Amino acid sequence: MLKKRVAAICVGLTVALTGVVVPSTTYSVHASVKPSVKRAKLLYRIDTKDPVVFITIDDGFDTNGYGLELLKKWRWPVTSFLLPFNSKNHVPYFQHVGRINDIGTHTAKHTILKGLSLQKQQEAICAGEQQIKQQFGYTTGIFRPPTGSWDSTTLEAAANCGISTVLLWRVSMNGSTMTTWGGPPRAGDVILIHYVRSLDKSLKRIAWELHKQGLHVARLADYLPMKTFSPLR
Ligand SMILES: [Zn+2]
Repeated sequence: MLKKRVAAICVGLTVALTGVVVPSTTYSVHASVKPSVKRAKLLYRIDTKDPVVFITIDDGFDTNGYGLELLKKWRWPVTSFLLPFNSKNHVPYFQHVGRINDIGTHTAKHTILKGLSLQKQQEAICAGEQQIKQQFGYTTGIFRPPTGSWDSTTLEAAANCGISTVLLWRVSMNGSTMTTWGGPPRAGDVILIHYVRSLDKSLKRIAWELHKQGLHVARLADYLPMKTFSPLR
């Protein structure tokens, strides 16, 4: 009761002094009704204490039979970020990589996204999602920007295409050369490789590094929510 009376006195005083009551909350009211922009989450690694890392393989330009034999023999689960023009005639092949292969997207034409308009980024990302879905029957909702090139618009464009996570990496392989950002492989790392002829060299080096660090390969879908993922086989 007392509070109401004080408030009434204050309003009355404002009117008396100025003659007009100016709502002081104009800007905050507008800010609160403006629809908030949806953005995909950006991750470089997975936050876990389990001694696990995640293998991701990009593009699908070239294949290496021996590398694929290793993945099968070691029963490593992988996540691939495929370009639809590479995978369109090889769907069963990619479905049988490793113990399980969850398919993410990578734009339709390997578009370098950073600096492009929202519309252009969205076209490139959505077309990749749509074509991979046509080929494989699902997408995981996990996206990797080509060459790791992204800006804040990428996160908005990705969300508009139904992407939940934009996934980068902390460890990358080129043949048997390993590049890391800040020390040897550790729990939660995402490792980037490509479907190229030196795939087997990369895999052998990774296996050796993981052995040294006491780490194992886990399935990304067990640690990162995915829209849909590959059926178990
Ligand atoms: Zn790529």
